[in-house]
Amino acid sequence: MRAEESTARVVAVRSRLTDLELDALMVTAPENTRYLSGFSGTLGYLVVTRDGAEILGDSRYWMQMEAEAPGFTLVRSVASSGLLALLTDRLKGLGLRRVGFESQHVTVDQHRRLSGAVPAEIALVPTAGLVEDLRMLKTPHEVELLRHVAMIASRAFDRVRSAVRPGLRERDVAFLLEQTFRELGADGPAFDTIVAAGEHGALPHGRASDRVLALGDMVVVDFGAVAGGYHSDTTRTIVVGEPTAEQRRVIAAVRQAQTESMALMKPGVTADAIDRRARDVLAGEAHAFGHGLGHGIGLMVHERPFLSASDQTPLKTGMVITNEPGIYRPGWGGVRLEEMVLVTEDGPEVLTPASHEVGVG
Ligand code: ZN
Ligand code: ZN
Repeated sequence: MRAEESTARVVAVRSRLTDLELDALMVTAPENTRYLSGFSGTLGYLVVTRDGAEILGDSRYWMQMEAEAPGFTLVRSVASSGLLALLTDRLKGLGLRRVGFESQHVTVDQHRRLSGAVPAEIALVPTAGLVEDLRMLKTPHEVELLRHVAMIASRAFDRVRSAVRPGLRERDVAFLLEQTFRELGADGPAFDTIVAAGEHGALPHGRASDRVLALGDMVVVDFGAVAGGYHSDTTRTIVVGEPTAEQRRVIAAVRQAQTESMALMKPGVTADAIDRRARDVLAGEAHAFGHGLGHGIGLMVHERPFLSASDQTPLKTGMVITNEPGIYRPGWGGVRLEEMVLVTEDGPEVLTPASHEVGVG
C-alpha cells in the first residue's frame, strides 16, 4: 500500500476522533487494520491516537508488519503476557482517557476481558462503522485493483463457459473457474463459487454439488476472485443446450430490472431507491426476488453500502457496488445476473464484462 494513501486514511480517522471526542480508536477488524496500515495479518491491534499510530503485534507477524506497515510503530508483545496485557499497558502508557473500540467487531467475551483489564479511568467507547464509512469511497488505486480482479474473473468465466457441457458436475465447473482465476493471476476465489443447476438455482446461496449437468438445465454461476486483498463478485445464468422460451423470458426480465436500476446508480441517488426500481420493473415477479439488490465490495465481498430498502446512503463517485437482481422459483430454478458497478460523475460503469450469452454446450 502506498504510504501517502495510508497517511490520508489515518488523518481521516483522526478527524472523526475529534468529532467524537475520543483520544484514540482501537481497530480490531482485520480489513480495517489493512485498510489503514497495509498490514494484512489477522492477529494484532491497531491503535490510532490523535498524534500517532501503532500496531500491537504477536511475534508470528512481526516481520510481516515491518514489511507491510513501515510507517507505523510496531509494539512487540512478550510471549509470557500476551496481546491483551500489552494493549492495556499501552493504553495506560499513552495516557488515554476515552478509547473507541469497534463494537461491530469486538465480541461480548473480548469486551468483558478488556473492561476487566483496563483501569477505571479509561473509558471504552463503542463506535460503529467508523472505518467502514471511509472504505465506501474507493481511491483511484483501489478502483484499479477492483477493475483488475473483476477483469480476471470475467476472462476466467468466458474461458470456462465454452467448456461447460452435459455430464460435468456443478463442482467441476466451480473447480475449473477457481483454477483459471489462479492461472490468470488472482490469489484465489473470493468465496466458494456457486454453480447451481436446475432446481438448485432456486436457492440463492446454494453451493456447487455433485449434481450432473444435463441438456436443458439452467445454471446460476456466481463467482469472484481475490487479488491484493480486493474481491470481485459476478453472476451469470446460462442454459445447457438450447434455452426454452420461458427460460429466455425470465432471464430477459431479470436483465431488464438490472439495466433500469443500474441506470440510477449515479451520485446523489439513495441506495434504497435503486433497490426499489429493480422491484418495480420485476412487478408481478418481485415476490420471487427475496434478497437485496446489491452491496459494496472491496476488502470484503459484502460491505457498505447495501442496495436495500433499509439503506438510505446516497451514492457517491468512487463507490463500487454490485447490482444483482434475481427470480427464484422453487422446483423450477433460478435466474440471477450480477455486475460490479463503479459510480462515476458520468453515471454507472460496469467492471465485469463476462459474456451474457445464454446458451452453452
Ligand atoms: Zn455474487
Ligand atoms: Zn454479490
